[in-house]
Amino acid sequence: YTFIFTRFSSSNSTLGSCSLMFGIPSLAEKVRPFIDLVDDMRSIGIDKELPLPAIAVVGDQSSGKSSVLETLAGVALPRGTGIVTRCPLLLQLCNDKAVNWEAVISYGENVFDFDEPSEVVKHVEQAQNALTGKGVGICEDLITLKITSSTVCDLSLIDLPGIARVAVKGQPDDIGAQIKNLILKFIKNKITIILVVVPCNVDIPTTEALKMAQEVDPEGTRTLAILTKPDLIDPGAEKNVLEIVHNKVIILNMGYFIVKCRGQKNIDENMSITDAIEEELEFFQNHEHFRSLLREEKATTKCLATKLSNTLVNEIKKSLPQMSETIKERLGEVKHLLSQIEDRPPPLEPAEKRKYLIQVITDFNDQITQLSNGDIIVEENLFDLMRKEFTEWMKCLENAKSHYHEVVQQVVDEYDQKHRGSELPGFTNYRVFQHVVQKLVAELKRPAMTTLQTIRDMVQKQFDHLSRECFKNYPYLHRVSKRKNETIQEQQSNIVKERIVEQFEMEMQVYTQDEIFNKHSRMEGTAESSVHDTRSKYPELLKAYYEIVVQRLADQVPMLIGYFILKQSAKIVCSEMLDLLHRDDTDDILQEDSEIEQYRAKLQAQLDRLILANDKISSL
Ligand code: GDP
Ligand code: MG
Repeated sequence: YTFIFTRFSSSNSTLGSCSLMFGIPSLAEKVRPFIDLVDDMRSIGIDKELPLPAIAVVGDQSSGKSSVLETLAGVALPRGTGIVTRCPLLLQLCNDKAVNWEAVISYGENVFDFDEPSEVVKHVEQAQNALTGKGVGICEDLITLKITSSTVCDLSLIDLPGIARVAVKGQPDDIGAQIKNLILKFIKNKITIILVVVPCNVDIPTTEALKMAQEVDPEGTRTLAILTKPDLIDPGAEKNVLEIVHNKVIILNMGYFIVKCRGQKNIDENMSITDAIEEELEFFQNHEHFRSLLREEKATTKCLATKLSNTLVNEIKKSLPQMSETIKERLGEVKHLLSQIEDRPPPLEPAEKRKYLIQVITDFNDQITQLSNGDIIVEENLFDLMRKEFTEWMKCLENAKSHYHEVVQQVVDEYDQKHRGSELPGFTNYRVFQHVVQKLVAELKRPAMTTLQTIRDMVQKQFDHLSRECFKNYPYLHRVSKRKNETIQEQQSNIVKERIVEQFEMEMQVYTQDEIFNKHSRMEGTAESSVHDTRSKYPELLKAYYEIVVQRLADQVPMLIGYFILKQSAKIVCSEMLDLLHRDDTDDILQEDSEIEQYRAKLQAQLDRLILANDKISSL
């Protein structure tokens, strides 16, 4: 590739920042749409939904990070000792032949345009102060600085705070940990390229930045290292550095670059970035050991720029299918969530709102009716549950039988014992036996009431569930229907209780029309058998009678419960819900849950972002 070096003058730039940069028009056509896509996606906030390809710059403090970025951006960035980068800074470099130089800085709700390169420092510092407060703290909010010029390369990278080892005055003690966490948050994303900046004049493998990169990218597949300050290497140590650059020490798939930026002296002497780039080239051309790296395209900032631009675009291309798929998946999910909370709030126009209320209530009533008919299942099948409960009731009656038989036998025996030979034939004390029946049947009242209570609880729970489902956007309707349901269930179960009490009172009559039983007793009534025989028939008769009582109760109690607790209650609930339509405070009735409102707005915003992102990917 041929690099086009351009100069332009700018009046009052402190750095004499007529910058020389790396416009690469032949590449621009190919790379720009991809970088734009990701930048656009980030600006619509899609990075909240899915990770986006990015280049994140990490380095220990004073490793030369800012110097490298400055050379890439062609403008001075804030610099100094301590933590200068206190918020992540997304540096978007856009090559546009038609534009001399312009920049936009945005953070939070703020957006500023400017066209003076020397103002970059001021704007970035202002943004950092606005986000973190003046001082030394850090924050996670992203500042976006977009620089468009005819001379920059097409590239987007995120500058992160330098890794600090010790806190300085005014900094929280855990500043080191805070910075590390912030860096990790960015670099652990699997589609982030980690650009590690390491000075040549330190023990390279032990630098914190390289260690952090290794932690999240142990294979070294997405880490690219930039070695800085080659002019400060101890004479004799060049060979070690060459070994590293040649990927022989710590193997990184993306390899190593070596760049030389302005030293402190150059800066103090106001050397421009343009001059620095020229000097960098000269430095490598004249360097005994590093000269060869120029041919290998492993040295100089401009070579780095091309490499980064291509690497980023490759990464974007690679992740496009996955991105597109994730966006489609999320679209589906968000649409589903929206449909669940109903995608629209109630209409505003009063007549329409009224119609809407009628619809909401009718839907609820339909469901309650269906539930009472066993046509829909809410959570668990209500009819199954009730059947199980009635079977329990039947079992309880069956279990009572054996107890009944024992007691009857006992009473008959006692009676025989007492009255042997003292009675006239054919005469038995009927009352004694009637009393036994009454006493034992009365014992069944309590389990009957328990069955009623259990089923009432089940029905109430399922009605409540339906009400919560149907009125989940409308807390008022939910509250009202819940209260109504409780009152109605209370009334209905009182009715059933009364009926059960009545039933048991009637049972005290010891009465039946049953044919089989009557045959039994007629046989007993004939004088063919002896007195003792007659008496010995009593247990049989009493058992037969109990069978009849059991049959009556086994049916009667479930029928009362089913009718009053389920069918009737459902009808009354529906009719009372319809009464709401006679009220004129429709607005209050349909007052939405504010949480639902916010939730819907959040989902709607997500949906908008995803649709936009989907369109952008499809149109690429
Ligand atoms: P940062 O803290 O990582 O952003 O590091 P800076 O970019 O602020 O650089 C720290 C110091 O190293 C500054 O004084 C720079 O001028 C100096 N520096 C950066 N790169 C080079 C280089 O290649 N050679 C020399 N001699 N000094 C450099
Ligand atoms: Mg810095």
